[in-house]
Amino acid sequence: MMETPLTIVQMIERAEKYYPTKEIISRTASGIHRFSYKQLGERTRSLASALTKLGVQKGDRVGTFAWNHHRHLEAYFAIPSIGAVLHTINIRLAPEHIIYIINHSEDKILLIDEDLLPLIEAVKDELKTVESFIVMSDQKNHMENPDSGLFPLYSYEKLVEEGDASFQFEADIDEYDPAGMCYTSATTGKPKGVVYSHRGIVLHSFTQGLADTAGICEADTVMPVVPMFHVNAWGLPFSATWFGATQVLPGPGPTPKIIAGLIENHQVTLSAGVPTIWIGLLNELEKGNYQMDSLRAILCGGSSAPKGIIRAFETTYNIPFIHAYGMTETTPLVTLAKLKSEHRSLPYEEQLEIRATQGLVVPGIEVKAINDQGEVKPDGKEMGELLIRGPWIADEYYKDERSKEAFRDGWLYTGDVVTMDGEGYIRIVDRTKDLIKSGGEWISSVDLENALMAHEGIFEAAVVAAPHPKWQERPVACVVLKEGKTVSKEELIEFLRPQFAKWWLPDDVLFVNEIPKTSVGKFLKAALREKAAEALAAQKQE
Ligand code: ADP
Repeated sequence: MMETPLTIVQMIERAEKYYPTKEIISRTASGIHRFSYKQLGERTRSLASALTKLGVQKGDRVGTFAWNHHRHLEAYFAIPSIGAVLHTINIRLAPEHIIYIINHSEDKILLIDEDLLPLIEAVKDELKTVESFIVMSDQKNHMENPDSGLFPLYSYEKLVEEGDASFQFEADIDEYDPAGMCYTSATTGKPKGVVYSHRGIVLHSFTQGLADTAGICEADTVMPVVPMFHVNAWGLPFSATWFGATQVLPGPGPTPKIIAGLIENHQVTLSAGVPTIWIGLLNELEKGNYQMDSLRAILCGGSSAPKGIIRAFETTYNIPFIHAYGMTETTPLVTLAKLKSEHRSLPYEEQLEIRATQGLVVPGIEVKAINDQGEVKPDGKEMGELLIRGPWIADEYYKDERSKEAFRDGWLYTGDVVTMDGEGYIRIVDRTKDLIKSGGEWISSVDLENALMAHEGIFEAAVVAAPHPKWQERPVACVVLKEGKTVSKEELIEFLRPQFAKWWLPDDVLFVNEIPKTSVGKFLKAALREKAAEALAAQKQE
């Protein structure tokens, strides 16, 4: 066979050539922006030429600090297509982590959204390698702000205007060359950098196009709500461009109302995000009168999708819901929960059981689960740590000692505890660090949360371990009630009782106004542990 390399260049060139009139619709600070793949191609080439003129060379890291919009999409293709590395920076990280990852990746240039400039200005004196800053703004000739202190500061639009719209992309890219990088949003310790190769990204997109996975195709209108600064918005901008799908990019600070409006107005067929996004959207749909008929599927991952949420989308709104699993280290798609044809005759609730698992491994990737005794039995009960390998799975953290712990014998050790059933469906029991160890047995915080979130009065629920003198740890639930609902602790425990063994039932239920979230919208359990510990300690004294 021929050895033609798989690179990101061919993704953008295909869209330019075969889908020149298809559209990319972006929500920006000044309204809705629309342009075609032909224009995307021209502007991407202009940007690539401008970056080259600014001194970007093969292998250099170029950072982006931006929401989901058309300029960010241009950067997604311009940077790797000159052989440089697209480093997407999570805008919600703590300043010390932003400083750490920019210095650690040695970004040469930063592309920054205008509304996010203050976040970079605040840390500018600590940045050791950045040579120029580029501000992405709707203003055509965004002038240098003499007070910003970012120097030199270029206007993105001016660079694109003055660039060469017929610039030729780098022809000499090896498919194993780095194309992108993203740091994990560390809840403990420093963020860890993951480098994505051209090959990994292209093969990952192949998998996203398969009918048995996300089935992304030309006829789709794809809206990633998952940020472009988090695992390349799960690779969707790459796949959607390659396949010529229409794209909707939701812009700065998308709220449930904005998301609902964009789906309705632009006839989105496939959208993707973490469960908190969909919990928020459900709440919005209950309030407003939206037309969601265009959606053929919602793709949900990043944390466990509660069964109650899946059921609500499907039975109340007739919107199919696909649960998937992955990590920053895995580009990210690893498993996806779709039924096999033999399941189609099962009653809905039994189908839901299967579809609420994290699903089956996608073609191209291998998984296994191990514990002290070796590989776990595929009985849906025995628990072990999930190990993954494949062509879009990282094999190390970027210049990081911690690689040794996570990457061993050719496998990624995920730190996720799973069971596997006889048909291969994987169920995540918990992250190792979130499992509740009570009297030597494990309790899954995820299972309790999902059960609680199926209660009609509950908006969000997180279950954490609190120290216990006799049992070592006991579960405590923290719940946010839906607006206008009242539910008592006793009622919730009674609601859980038939579903769980007695010793799984939470020792306490705390009613809170909000569950703190991580920078990518997952429940931040660390912030609740102290509260839970205090509550149990107080209970003991009563
Ligand atoms: P971060 O580490 O920044 O939170 P990642 O996206 O890399 O971001 O997180 C990956 C982790 O998220 C996985 O190891 C797993 O614990 C969790 N996760 C991802 N998808 C799911 C899912 N569908 N169900 C349960 N947990 C998930």
